[in-house]
Amino acid sequence: PEAITVGELAKRMGEKGADLVKELFNLDMMVTVNQTIDQDTAELLVEQFGHNIQKVSESDVDISAEEDVDPEETLQPRPPVVAVMGHVDHGKTSLLDALRKTNVTRGEAGGITQHIGAYQVTTKDKSKITFLDTPGHAAFSEMRARGANVTDIVVLVVAADDGIMPQTIEAINHAKAADVPIIVAINKIDKPEANPQNIRNRLLEHEVIVEEMSGDVQDVEVSAKEGTGLEDLIEKINLQAELMELKARPDRDAEATVVEAQLDKGRGPVATVLINRGTLKRGDTFVVGTQSGKVRALINDQGKQVKEAGPSVPVEVLGLSGVPSAGDMLTVVENEQRAREVAQYRQEKATEKRTALAPTSFDTMFNKSN
Ligand code: GDP
Ligand code: MG
Repeated sequence: PEAITVGELAKRMGEKGADLVKELFNLDMMVTVNQTIDQDTAELLVEQFGHNIQKVSESDVDISAEEDVDPEETLQPRPPVVAVMGHVDHGKTSLLDALRKTNVTRGEAGGITQHIGAYQVTTKDKSKITFLDTPGHAAFSEMRARGANVTDIVVLVVAADDGIMPQTIEAINHAKAADVPIIVAINKIDKPEANPQNIRNRLLEHEVIVEEMSGDVQDVEVSAKEGTGLEDLIEKINLQAELMELKARPDRDAEATVVEAQLDKGRGPVATVLINRGTLKRGDTFVVGTQSGKVRALINDQGKQVKEAGPSVPVEVLGLSGVPSAGDMLTVVENEQRAREVAQYRQEKATEKRTALAPTSFDTMFNKSN
């Protein structure tokens, strides 16, 4: 059992040491500020000062703090979620477009895919891969900053006629910080001046060591323009995903992450989410960030309405009370009252956080009066 001095405990509780000593005296314990007390006594004190009440209500309402881990036997394999990153003009958008065209189950009707920020490709062997169509590094770090780690694999695009550029390094750092494996796509190999070997060598300096150089990072030469190497890239993504044994429980209330959201003129607030676990269904009541709602419609990456969406599936959600932020967690709750309660709680928390972050406003105040 841990021991703590009365003074230290007071500091952590934000109370005066003398007040704690007084309280301990009332509990028939004669101690000074510098003396240690055991954990049970400390807990008793905390309770006495009412700090526990706040704690209990927090875990009661802040559902994101819940630690409900799905039992192993309920888990099912899920498709990998892949983010394409790299320096500007190295071909991220071109590669995403080319990969989208490899989709074997692409609807014949029209073939005009709606842009929803993420899409899923069904490969020849019937496996699926989800691509995040938000190549901005800002979106990636924004989501990470909010504790949302939706990406399983980073495809690092490097133009073979260029080299390692600032945003290439940034992407490497993002992937490393998030502990996400990298697959290097050496792009533009159709160009006469392409020098893929040079890219492999230069990557060494950033501790990205490809297999050929006895490292464990897969690399593949592609041309987004001519469509070469795409099958190979997909195969390598699948191989990486297999190693990771990605799983999620499908038969439970959904938890999803907002990839992007906006206010649509005709449809109101719309969010593209990626299902982390569970299955999101039409009619589900949910909280998303500080907003709440009821699923009015779900629209897939082909622009078609669907009744439900399972793990790793990207889907547009209609029926929100307002526009959430990228990285916000969508959580299905039992009813609308509960949804409002949780949303309200999160709103208050957000306000508190802003207020807590505002001590600099004192400085501003003083500066202004000067
Ligand atoms: P992003 O900024 O990383 O999204 O790059 P883009 O996909 O917009 O591509 C930048 C430029 O490179 C465009 O002019 C593309 O047509 C061109 N490009 C992309 N991939 C290839 C490729 O494989 N070969 C060639 N020759 N050009 C490419
Ligand atoms: Mg682009």
